[in-house]
Order: sequence, then structure tokens, then C-alpha cells
Amino acid sequence: MATLHDRITAVHTRINTACAQAGRSPSEVGLLCVSKTQPAAVVRDAHACGERHFGENYVQEALDKMAALADLRSSLSWHFIGPLQSNKSRAVAEHFDWVHSVDSLKLARRLSDQRPAHLPPLQICVQVNVDDEASKSGVHPNETLGLVDAIATLPRLRLRGLMSIPAPQSDPTHRGAHDALAALLHSLNRARNLPLDTLSMGMSHDLEAAIAAGATWVRVGTALFGERPPKA
Ligand SMILES: *Cc1c(COP(=O)(O)O)cnc(C)c1O
Repeated sequence: MATLHDRITAVHTRINTACAQAGRSPSEVGLLCVSKTQPAAVVRDAHACGERHFGENYVQEALDKMAALADLRSSLSWHFIGPLQSNKSRAVAEHFDWVHSVDSLKLARRLSDQRPAHLPPLQICVQVNVDDEASKSGVHPNETLGLVDAIATLPRLRLRGLMSIPAPQSDPTHRGAHDALAALLHSLNRARNLPLDTLSMGMSHDLEAAIAAGATWVRVGTALFGERPPKA
């Protein structure tokens, strides 16, 4: 059975190969280890293997893990990537480094208001619903510019770019949704002369296509940690 170290190495090999094929440097693509449902001990092992960025979807689960890993806090970053209810925004503003899933001005305002003064600004991605699927979170592409303009005025946030969770493709090499998110980022930068540099897209099954389209974070869970137990 493959060890965690083997699986981490295999994912880095996939990232490096995809970067070589895309003519990109692997230093442009961060591996965000999606540790939701995994125990703190697994995060500790991944950290010991050299990983530094961890993605969580559930606030209380993440806070428990952070408490168990407090001794590592200065050498790892926590990214919130799941749907975020307003009543849980304070805990996220106080404990995370990044939020990839901002999809409303109301949530952005709360995160800015609640970000403690002693911490650096919270790093933010706007989640975009590139497939326009009614069932999913994320803003419509047409609404992105308005939200970006509003977030730019919030003092305790630093807007970095865009995030998407495209509909599962039967063909994981399909690039359409990834290209659409990349094109949207470029159009925002042109329209407002912004320096947005972040595209959070691509997961275990489609990270190659996302890297080809310009991903700067790939969010990988299953390929690193195995299948997740069903959430109780
Ligand atoms: C769970 C999750 C992932 C990881 O998905 P895998 O298919 O396990 O790699 C990535 N992004 C988000 C937003 C997730 O919720």
C-alpha cells in the first residue's frame, strides 16, 4: 500500500509533468492539501513531508485540528475552501490565512470587519460559478467585477484572484471551465489595472487540465489522502 509520502511524491510528479507540458515553472503552482475529514495526525505527517498549505471545508473541524497542531502554526497556512455561513465568519477571520470561497459582499464585509488587527490581511479569492449551475455556490461571471470592486475597498482583505469548482467532467482533460476562469481573471486585471495573480482551480482528477489553463493553486484531497469517509 502506498504511504502518504509516496502519494505526495506522486502528486508533485503530476504537477511537475503538467507544468513541463504547459511550459510553466512548478514554482508557479502551489499544492493545497485538502485535509477535510482527515485527522490532525495526517496533517502533521504531510507537514513532516514538506507540505505547508492545508485546505479545510468545515469550521469546527478545522478549529479542532488547528488546536492540535498549534505548535506548527508558524510554518503552515490554513485555507478555508468550503461554503461559509455568515455566523461562522468570525472564526474563519481569526484563524485562517486564506479564504477561497468568498461569494458575496456581505461575507466579504464581515471577514474584513472581523479580521484581527494584529494579523496580516486575509488573502481572498472570489468563487465563481463558471458553469452557471443553479445548484452550486459562487457568483455569476457577470457579477464578478462588481464584487471585485467592492472587495477592493475593504481594508482587512487582500484580494488575490478567483476560485472555481467546475461541474465534474466525464472527461477530466476538458479545459473549458478552467480557461473561462483564466480569461475572467485577465479581463478583471485589464478592466481595473489590477495585479490579481491567483487561480485556484483543479482537484485530484483534473489538476493537469487546470495547470494547462493557468492554475496557481491546485486543491488536492483524494489523491493525497485517499477516499474520504462519508461525512456523518
Ligand atoms: C474536497 C474539495 C477538494 C478536493 O477534492 P479531491 O477530488 O478530493 O481532490 C477541492 N476543492 C474543494 C472546494 C473541495 O471541497
